[in-house]
Amino acid sequence: MYNVGMKTRTETRGIKIGNLTLGGQSRVLIQSMCNIKTEKVDLVVEQINECATLGADYMRVSVMDEADAKAIKEIKKQTTIPIVADIHFDYRLAMLAMENGANKIRINPGNIGPIENVKKVVAMAKEKHVPIRIGVNSGSLDKSIHDYSTQYKAQDLVNSAKKHVNILESLGFYDIAISLKGSNVRETIEANRLAANTFPYPLHLGITEAGFKDLSLIRSTAGLAPLLLEGIGDTIRISISGDPRDEIIAAKRLLHDLDLYPNYPTLVACPTCGRTQVDVLKLAEKVMDYLEKVNKPIHVAVMGCVVNGPGEAKNADIGIAGGKGEYVIFRKDKIIKKVPEELAFETLVSEIEKM
Ligand code: SF4
Repeated sequence: MYNVGMKTRTETRGIKIGNLTLGGQSRVLIQSMCNIKTEKVDLVVEQINECATLGADYMRVSVMDEADAKAIKEIKKQTTIPIVADIHFDYRLAMLAMENGANKIRINPGNIGPIENVKKVVAMAKEKHVPIRIGVNSGSLDKSIHDYSTQYKAQDLVNSAKKHVNILESLGFYDIAISLKGSNVRETIEANRLAANTFPYPLHLGITEAGFKDLSLIRSTAGLAPLLLEGIGDTIRISISGDPRDEIIAAKRLLHDLDLYPNYPTLVACPTCGRTQVDVLKLAEKVMDYLEKVNKPIHVAVMGCVVNGPGEAKNADIGIAGGKGEYVIFRKDKIIKKVPEELAFETLVSEIEKM
């Protein structure tokens, strides 16, 4: 099934994850991973449900032992989005996770011992219609492909994935997703371009070990945006050292800015300058928080001054611009109201609610 020509996301093989389809469509699915041990069911359920409310299409949980695998059953009862079980090395945990309702598993078939083990996993995945993600990370490349005496290359990530894909295909299994994640942005971009030219399967994009929030947002955007704009990538995870809820919000904002997540609010805020006499940052954060909570798909501008603000934000549906201790509210570039600074947020919200 190789040398298929470049597959953009509408042309990749659609695979089912519970009631979702990954690949073969223009929608890019959003996912994150729980950062609590999976056997702590109540906490994991709470985190999954919070992420689902924010817009996660599905969530991944790590399966380190039997308790984690068995916990999936109870987690499934108390959540509504599909669950992916992440397993390293132990094929029996993959089987147990599927028995307990995992909708997808992440396991590399080349890392789970003899082919008999792989056959058992594949047989159950076929029976239960569970797809398998092959996840290749730059830090754990197959030694026969890259020995780490030099910097890894994009082709090393693809070759490593190929090895695992070949095993599944030889067993007649094609419900495959692939991720090629490097901590190096350029190599990750290149690897995924090569992968889109090599495999017909949906691609999961992410930059691994992207770091804490500010760093990850830049690094992940640098790595993912070029690919997404080229039509590559069927699902994304913005890896942030920290709260998975931040990953979901970041993924939505990135996809929205690339016109891949419609019906979502757009907020613009001026960078502020010496003319600013109000707290633009605080107001902008409150407005974004409100817009995302009500998920109102309008374009709102929060600007620092009346002189340039409305003119600079002509594309906004509604906006607010600061003066000295007061704000004006404008629609397009026409001022409709003047309010003291302390009433700015409430007045803007009441104007938005009329829209
Ligand atoms: S809108 Fe006004 S305060 Fe904001 S950057 Fe422009 S000139 Fe400066």
